Amino acid sequence: MAQNHNEGKKFLDSVHQYFDHAASYSRLDSGILAQIKACNSVYKVSFPVEVDGKIEVIEGIRVQHSHHKLPSKGGIRYSLQVDEDEVKALATLMTFKCAVVDVPFGGAKGGVKINPRTSSVKTLEKVTRRYAAELIKKNLIGPGMDVPAPDYGTGSREMAWIADTYQALKYGETNGLGCVTGKPVGQGGIRGRAEATGLGVYYGIREALGDTELLKNTGITGNTLQGKRIIVQGLGNVGYHAAYFCQQDGGLIIGIAEREGGIYDPNGLDVQDVFKHRNETGSILNYKNAKNIENSLLLLEEECDILIPAALENQITQENAANIKAKIIAEGANGPVTGDAEKILLANGIILLPDLYLNAGGVTVSYFEWLKNLSNVRFGRMGKRAEEASYKRLVNAIESSSGKSLTAQEKALLTQGSDEIKMVRSGLEDTMINAYHEIREVMKQKGIADMRTAAFLSAIEKIGVSYEALGIFP
Ligand code: NAD
Repeated sequence: MAQNHNEGKKFLDSVHQYFDHAASYSRLDSGILAQIKACNSVYKVSFPVEVDGKIEVIEGIRVQHSHHKLPSKGGIRYSLQVDEDEVKALATLMTFKCAVVDVPFGGAKGGVKINPRTSSVKTLEKVTRRYAAELIKKNLIGPGMDVPAPDYGTGSREMAWIADTYQALKYGETNGLGCVTGKPVGQGGIRGRAEATGLGVYYGIREALGDTELLKNTGITGNTLQGKRIIVQGLGNVGYHAAYFCQQDGGLIIGIAEREGGIYDPNGLDVQDVFKHRNETGSILNYKNAKNIENSLLLLEEECDILIPAALENQITQENAANIKAKIIAEGANGPVTGDAEKILLANGIILLPDLYLNAGGVTVSYFEWLKNLSNVRFGRMGKRAEEASYKRLVNAIESSSGKSLTAQEKALLTQGSDEIKMVRSGLEDTMINAYHEIREVMKQKGIADMRTAAFLSAIEKIGVSYEALGIFP
């Protein structure tokens, strides 16, 4: 989160720096490139809300970075530090993120200056509904216009309030639920959205670990997560799920950094249990045999194979980049590494899996949720039983021709049809794998050494095609 305006500016400068560098490899006309870089619209609003008998003026913002495809898409963050440049940087990243994973949306981002931890649920609901109403008034939200999602400080509860407000004010709109994603399943959400970003981070890391050529100078061997030492910053939505799925696949979570401090155990921490401990005690500290680290930022400098910054931007900067000993930095958060820091990390042979690829799982599954809302039918509803019936016929035919019988358990496994969660995870996995190899291909074709530049370039070229197709540019 931008601690002050300088932090927000630094973040936007970093994103522009990344863009400019990638654009220098592009074949596109400079006018098209300038259009792709520019923020298309910024809407700022102030509104009064009664809090504990007093009127407070709340500030909100919505930035739509690109309208090259509609709707635009991007989360809403709640924090007192919300800053225009920061939101612009995040909206810009969303445009390129969507393009990297072939999600047909423009990029956007929103923010509200409110502390979600110290505000009552009643206040949060009032503020959320009013912010949504302000966007509705200006036609800045809607299934074909701009579709928010959760981000730092917001979750499915806030998305449910937004959907409800939208439907109340746009009564009878068939696709109304598609005005926002990340909703609870009972209110038009999709199974698998909550963990999607973290699961996508895991798929991306798994893909990189299988890429011997990428890792050849890192000393990382084995091609899998088994025994890899991992440090995670942020045990929120992204960090928790990324750590959980990596651990499930054999990764060793040796450090977790949170706002109140960090914990370190070279023998591995149980992510679910640490999460429970934090919920029960209000802090991550004093967990079993783990060592407390007062300044949690220092935990990022510990020796490990994979560092997953999954909390907020500008965490690895010119000041601490040279001290980072991780072999891979997997950007769960948006913008955790500044442009200046990246140069130092790359010079030290560290592999960076960039945010615009690695944390795109959230928007990918948001896209699936939006599709579900437009079609008004749960994925798998039409085909699951038909699929199962044909698998059963196949298994029966194999049994009778081979004379061998399968156990009931084997049969059940072989004849399962695809339900929503299976389809969502399969779509997410396929997306993360395809995007990974697309980026690697760009690296090879253009002789680019780092994944971020290649990911930006891949996105820029895809967006450029949609402008060129309009025929209004030379
Ligand atoms: P969240 O609010 O669920 O979690 C953030 C966590 O970081 C919290 O546990 C918080 O206590 C912790 N934190 C805050 N300051 C910290 C500090 N100084 N040191 C260590 N930990 C700190 O938010 P989230 O949704 O997990 O988002 C985290 C990051 O991932 C953000 O950059 C967000 O933009 C990005 N992201 C989120 C999604 C998503 O689907 N939620 C998708 C893509 C990118």
